[in-house]
Amino acid sequence: MEGRTVGVLGAGQLGRMFVEAASRLNVQVRLLDVGAGAPAKQICAVPGPSGSGSEHVDGSFADAAKIRELAAKVDVLTVEIEHVDARQLQAVLDEKLVDAVHPLPATIALIQDKYAQKAFLAEKGLPCGEFAPLEGAAGAEGQVKAAQEMGSRYGYPLMLKSRTQAYDGRGNFVMRNANDAPAAIAALGGGERGLYAEKWAKFEREVAVMVVRSSSGEVRSYPAVETVHRDNICHSVFAPLRTSDAGVPQRAREIAERAVATFGGAGVFGVELFLMPGGELRINEIAPRPHNSGHYTIEAADTSQYENHLRAILGLPLGSTALKVPSSAMVNILGLADLDKDAQAVAKTMAPAVASLAVPGATAHLYGKVGCRKGRKMGHITVVGQSDAEVRARLQPILDALDVATE
Ligand code: ATP
Ligand code: MG
Ligand code: MG
Repeated sequence: MEGRTVGVLGAGQLGRMFVEAASRLNVQVRLLDVGAGAPAKQICAVPGPSGSGSEHVDGSFADAAKIRELAAKVDVLTVEIEHVDARQLQAVLDEKLVDAVHPLPATIALIQDKYAQKAFLAEKGLPCGEFAPLEGAAGAEGQVKAAQEMGSRYGYPLMLKSRTQAYDGRGNFVMRNANDAPAAIAALGGGERGLYAEKWAKFEREVAVMVVRSSSGEVRSYPAVETVHRDNICHSVFAPLRTSDAGVPQRAREIAERAVATFGGAGVFGVELFLMPGGELRINEIAPRPHNSGHYTIEAADTSQYENHLRAILGLPLGSTALKVPSSAMVNILGLADLDKDAQAVAKTMAPAVASLAVPGATAHLYGKVGCRKGRKMGHITVVGQSDAEVRARLQPILDALDVATE
C-alpha cells in the first residue's frame, strides 16, 4: 500500500507505539535517537546492507548532522518530541532531501516556545487565560524582580514557566508568595533561560483532546478526555470526559479543532485544556505529536492516534476517531526510584502492570526503557469496559497495586 519510508526524530515510547502502528500497515520506519537500545528501536529491526548493524541512526534529535543523516534515508520526516532542531528540519525540506516534514518545521518551532505558542493562539482568538513574558534585566537579580512584578500583577500562587525545553512539569515553578522568587529563578536556570508567567488557573478539572489534521487541512478530533496530573505529571486519563454540563466535551473539541486548524502541515496534535468552574475552557498547551492523553485510543478508538498520525503524514485517508467501547481509562506507570539508588523501590515499579494481567479489559504497555528513574514514564495500562462503573471496578486492583508500591 505504501512504498515510502518514514523517519522519526526520537525513539522513546511514542515512537515505539508509532512503530507498532506502522508495522501493521507494513510501512518502513527509520529512527533517530541516542543509543541502539532506545524503546522504539528495540521493536523495529532494520539490519544494514551487509546484514549486520542497523539502518537506524544513533545520535541526538537536536543534532543537525544526525538529522541530515536520517533525512538521507527516508521520504517523510516526523517527530515524537518537539525539542528537536526545527531549523535543520526546514533546511532538509528546502534542499528536497525529503518529500515532506510533518508537522511543519515552522509549527514545531512555534510550539517549542511555550510563550510564543500561547501568544499565537491568543492572537487567533483562542481562550488561553492570562500570561506574560518575564521582562526586566537579564541575570538572576533582574529576573527575581521581574517575577515579583508578575506576582503583583497576577496574584499568588503564580505559575512561572520556562519558555523552552519543558516536559512533565520540569520547567514549571509555583510561586506561593514574593519570597519564593529567588528559589523559583534558581530552579528555572538562574535567569539564563527565557521565562514567562501564567496567572494561576483554579481549574475544576483538566481536559485533553487529540486532533488529527490531514495535509489538505481536514481536521478531526477524538472525544474529549479527563486528565489527572500529580506533581505536574500525567497520572491517569478517563475517556470519554463526563460533565454535568453536557455541552463541555463538545466545546472542548471545537476549541481544539480550531486551534489545530491554525497550524499548517499534517499529523496528530494533543491539546491540553483547563475546565474552569462555570464551564469555561482555556487552552494550557499543545503538543505537535501523539500524546500521553491519547494512549487510550489504541484499545478504545476505531483508529489509534498513532495510526492516524501515520495516515496523516503519508496523505492516506484519515481513520475514524470514534470510541469503539463505551468507557476507558489509562494509568501511567512511573519509575518509583532511580535504579542506582533504591533497587527495591525500582522492583515495585511494575506492580500495577503485574496486577493488570488478571484484569479483564486491561492492556499493559511496557516501554523497555533501560534505566529506571524516579518519575520516568516506564509504561502504561489501558482498561476498557461497557460502562464507567465497570472501568472503575476493573481499574481498582491496578490502582491498589500502585498505592501499595508507592507506600
Ligand atoms: P507536558 O509534559 O504536558 O508537556 P509541561 O512541562 O509542558 O508538561 P504544563 O503542561 O505547562 O507543563 O503544566 C503541567 C501541569 O501543571 C498542568 O497539567 C497543570 O496541572 C499545571 N498547570 C500548568 N499551568 C498552570 C496554571 N496556569 N495554573 C494552574 N496549574 C497549572
Ligand atoms: Mg508541555
Ligand atoms: Mg502539559
